[in-house]
Amino acid sequence: MKGVIFSGMRPTGKLHIGNYYGALTNWIQLQNEYKCYYGVVDWHALTTGYDNTSMMKENMIEMVIDWLSAGIDPDKSTLLIQSHVPEHAELHLLLSMITPLAWLERNPVLKEQVRDLNLKENMGYGLLGYPVLMASDILIYKSNAVPVGEDQSPHVELAREIGRRFNNLYNPVFPIPKLKLSHTPRIPGTDGRKMSKSLKNDITLSDKPEDIKNKVLSMITDPRKIRLADPGHPEVCVVYKYHEIFNKKEFQNIERDCRKAKLGCVACKKRLADVLIQSFQSFREKRNYYERNSQLVWDILMKGSEEARKVAKKTLSEVRKAMKIDYA
Ligand code: ADP
Repeated sequence: MKGVIFSGMRPTGKLHIGNYYGALTNWIQLQNEYKCYYGVVDWHALTTGYDNTSMMKENMIEMVIDWLSAGIDPDKSTLLIQSHVPEHAELHLLLSMITPLAWLERNPVLKEQVRDLNLKENMGYGLLGYPVLMASDILIYKSNAVPVGEDQSPHVELAREIGRRFNNLYNPVFPIPKLKLSHTPRIPGTDGRKMSKSLKNDITLSDKPEDIKNKVLSMITDPRKIRLADPGHPEVCVVYKYHEIFNKKEFQNIERDCRKAKLGCVACKKRLADVLIQSFQSFREKRNYYERNSQLVWDILMKGSEEARKVAKKTLSEVRKAMKIDYA
């Protein structure tokens, strides 16, 4: 094993193809090379979703069903619920003491969220501390690498800085974790902005074939290509961007035919829909199995959380000792 991995996702429901190609594909692959901890980070979901928690448990199960159906193997990786390992919270508190406020206030992800969710006066103390909580998730398992999408890279950078600061102030308890991006770290949504559930521009892994087709058909293409005979400009077209990412076999021919006005937009979209539908065929079959056996999913999370807790407790006692607050 090359080291330890931690990464997490907020339980906000079913995963979209941005989560899959941005992070989950890496999670699956890394299971064979690293000791992996994958967390359902429910406290992170509360940083913006604190007023609507009724779906939390259901969302956890739906998300982990997606992980398992995509290829996360609970015999190889430890799957845990953040709030079932309360040591994350104690480490978060201790790290919050050594984290300068200015580091958190200049976080570009926070600025974007405040703008997109129109938070302004409503921004909570918990949301400001999101990267400190994420640092504690990562550092508590002494992780060496963190596979996430590009949008999370400022948070991983902060986790590195917080870890370094702890090691310098006290003892070198933590390895400094590296950011691990996938080959496609930023998947655009159907409207060309970053794919995100909150922007309602997502295609989920579990979308039915008809839904995938309808979403693809509604995508906006090059506004200068109105008729088949108009030459297209693939560089401004989201459908083409998707072909480039998901349709490795055909994208060069598609680019050529679009520019030469040999391929119309509807036909081009149908080809993309077929590729996407095909890509998730076996996923949908596995998902059916876990949907019928959701107790199994819960059992996996309970067992994983217990296992993770042992490791987290050990690190936390090293942390207390390094800070000379173990009072033994
Ligand atoms: P969301 O942004 O949909 O609420 P999360 O913030 O929980 O989802 O993200 C889970 C993982 O998926 C993170 O590693 C994140 O970087 C990645 N991710 C989310 N959206 C995208 C995207 N559009 N492209 C690539 N990766 C993404």
